[in-house]
Amino acid sequence: MEQRQHHQRAPVWRRPRENGIFLRWLNNLPRHLHNKLEARIEFTLIATMPDKFILMADRRLLNAVPTIPTALESPTGIVADTLARPLQELRISLTDRCNFRCVYCMPEESFGKDHVFLPQTSLLGFEEITRIARIFVSHGVQKIRLTGGEPLLRKHIENLIGMLAQLKTPDGRDIELTLTTNGSLLAKKAQSMKDAGLNRVTVSLDSLDDVIFKRMNGVGFPVSDVLHGLDIAHAVGLGPIKVNMVVKGGMNDQEIVPMARYFKGSPFILRFIEYMDVGVSNNWKMDEVIPSSEVVRRIAAHMPLEAIKSNHKGETAERWRYQDGSGEIGVISSVTQAFCHDCTRARLSTVGVLYTCLFATSGHDLRALMRYGKTDQEISTAIAHLWRSRADRYSELRGAATKGMERTIKKIEMSYIGG
Ligand code: SAM
Ligand code: SF4
Ligand code: SF4
Repeated sequence: MEQRQHHQRAPVWRRPRENGIFLRWLNNLPRHLHNKLEARIEFTLIATMPDKFILMADRRLLNAVPTIPTALESPTGIVADTLARPLQELRISLTDRCNFRCVYCMPEESFGKDHVFLPQTSLLGFEEITRIARIFVSHGVQKIRLTGGEPLLRKHIENLIGMLAQLKTPDGRDIELTLTTNGSLLAKKAQSMKDAGLNRVTVSLDSLDDVIFKRMNGVGFPVSDVLHGLDIAHAVGLGPIKVNMVVKGGMNDQEIVPMARYFKGSPFILRFIEYMDVGVSNNWKMDEVIPSSEVVRRIAAHMPLEAIKSNHKGETAERWRYQDGSGEIGVISSVTQAFCHDCTRARLSTVGVLYTCLFATSGHDLRALMRYGKTDQEISTAIAHLWRSRADRYSELRGAATKGMERTIKKIEMSYIGG
């Protein structure tokens, strides 16, 4: 009887709770064995697993390897999608790991101690990242943002910054190299990243109140350390620095005015981000979104504001300045006022998967092309074709096309795809 039960047990990869053990074992294999096995597992998962058994960790592997078109082409410095949006910005996720557990991004309930992060061997190496980035720059990308997860957790990040900072646009200009961080390691790393060639940082900070901030970051991290990181980053010249505050109704919206007051007249530009329905683990609800119009209304009631023009086409934030001349704020209305029509951003995940939208449900495996030995021209042609066929505009369609489907659409987590 015992014998039969043993035989009837599903193989380990079909038992969700034990998937963690299995993936950890996979992580520890030598690189060449790991790569071979990972490809086989990916295939097995696609071929045989009922969807409900596929854990987040496994679903991350379900991406198509792009076809290389037969007619190869040389990059022209401009490629536009089906809605005439040029490819101009690349966001690169350096790690899916983070030392915070923000309630809106990596809540502890979903990213607890048992969560299995991506195996080290599957991450793109610095040469691979730079190679892909160079191809994107040849297609017109002028701005690269390093993100994650928490990008400062990636070891030797300064080396990568140094390599990316060498890239030049087709007409010989430097690219703009920026990074988004939770600020926890900024005081330690700001100088070395500046020396390596980083231009600017954006720092996330959701409250000035320690109790609220500690609850929101999920790990009890104090506000003072982030503020210290901001000061050091400013001192070493990583400015103008933007400070991003995600506003979650009922959690930190009482901090809107105190945050505005604190940063008014400072060298930092505060931006309020509407809480987005990215990923599935944050259990997003529309009634927890505080619209940007409400943010502006609340601040203006104390400190009068007026709208100002955007710096450039495609800028995500709408700008407002204080009427007394003491600086400006930005509001990013990804939910209530979608800006898909101007979206020129591509995202490269930690494992080299290209996503043409933050809300994509699947991507294009560029790492596979590199590791299968494809040439730069082949990869470049594949990228140009992918961008030309892009039609994403999730936020514009959010209300209409996705009504009632929020729970069934399998969106990728932000910590993996890169914020
Ligand atoms: N760890 C870094 C950080 O927090 O700045 C970089 C990665 S994080 C995913 C990038 C940005 O996405 C942060 O500013 C964060 O606040 C924002 N973010 C994460 N989840 C979000 C959500 N559900 N809605 C709106 N913004 C979100
Ligand atoms: Fe980490 Fe940034 Fe996500 Fe917070 S928002 S959990 S700091 S990746
Ligand atoms: Fe761009 Fe997609 Fe966001 Fe629209 S929803 S702005 S297409 S990333």
